[in-house]
Amino acid sequence: MSGQQSFPFAFFEGKIIPFKDAKISISNNALQYGNGIFGGIRCYVSEEKKDVFIFRISDHYKRFLKSLRILNKTISYNYQELIDITVKLAKKNHPDTDTYIRPFAYAKEGFISPDLHPLTFDFAIYMVPLGEYLSVDKGLKLAVSNWIRINDNMIPSRAKVCGGYINSSMAKGDAVALGFDDALMLDISGHVAEGTGANFFMVRDGLLITSPKSSDALEGITRRTIIELANDRHIPFLEREIDRTEIYIAEEAFLTGTGAQVAWIAEIDGRVIGSGKIGPITKKLQTLFFNIVRGKEKRYASWLNKI
Ligand code: PMP
Repeated sequence: MSGQQSFPFAFFEGKIIPFKDAKISISNNALQYGNGIFGGIRCYVSEEKKDVFIFRISDHYKRFLKSLRILNKTISYNYQELIDITVKLAKKNHPDTDTYIRPFAYAKEGFISPDLHPLTFDFAIYMVPLGEYLSVDKGLKLAVSNWIRINDNMIPSRAKVCGGYINSSMAKGDAVALGFDDALMLDISGHVAEGTGANFFMVRDGLLITSPKSSDALEGITRRTIIELANDRHIPFLEREIDRTEIYIAEEAFLTGTGAQVAWIAEIDGRVIGSGKIGPITKKLQTLFFNIVRGKEKRYASWLNKI
């Protein structure tokens, strides 16, 4: 099988088993109709490679269970069990590098029908080593996509629904094919929603601004982290709708996400953002973020689960 190399063990059908044996049928409704939801959690290794921390696992599983609730589906594990299974699997795979943990809940059956109602959902996890998903140093070149971000009344945009990601795939695929690093997506009203797998922030007149959740932005855990850090460091912050042309004249802009981390943006649609270098507010938040996830900021230790 090609694709990203996974760690040797996965959680599948109630057990930790070799990843290579965790397989589902080609007729499965999660594959055929996207009937599933997923999460994305990161493990970070400390600088001396002594410790491995899972970042904000509780918040990730709270959102995971909310995604299921939106689909009106249940799985046979509760919140604490999900955390325990994840920690157990992470220990078994014992990563020695930054790692992405992918939990998902998916339709077990295969029917020739998109009907969600009769489906029962199971839960599985696999893990892959993941360094930078997007460069955090180089300055991203983004394009505003002509694909519109899914609206909450089309596919729930605050749930991480598998099928909904075709929206991100189209936008990112087209942007990358044209030589950009990624795309920014507008909502149906024309305001900036977010990236294809990351939330969007900009700085204007010294004010840190992100799109509201009502702009069909995912309720990102990294987004929330950045907002909390901005508040703690007295960086003026506002959540409000963002117009397209505002991003061209922003002083700073960056993306946040479990994969993306805190990745600064150098250009959008060929316009240089600010000075074309990482801005002071972005730099401050990015440095703090990486110190926190690697266990160097005791004040935020409650966000880390050591494995
Ligand atoms: N938006 C989308 C569409 C995403 O897939 C992600 C990644 N989960 C994010 C934003 C960022 O969310 P988080 O910080 O929780 O990873």
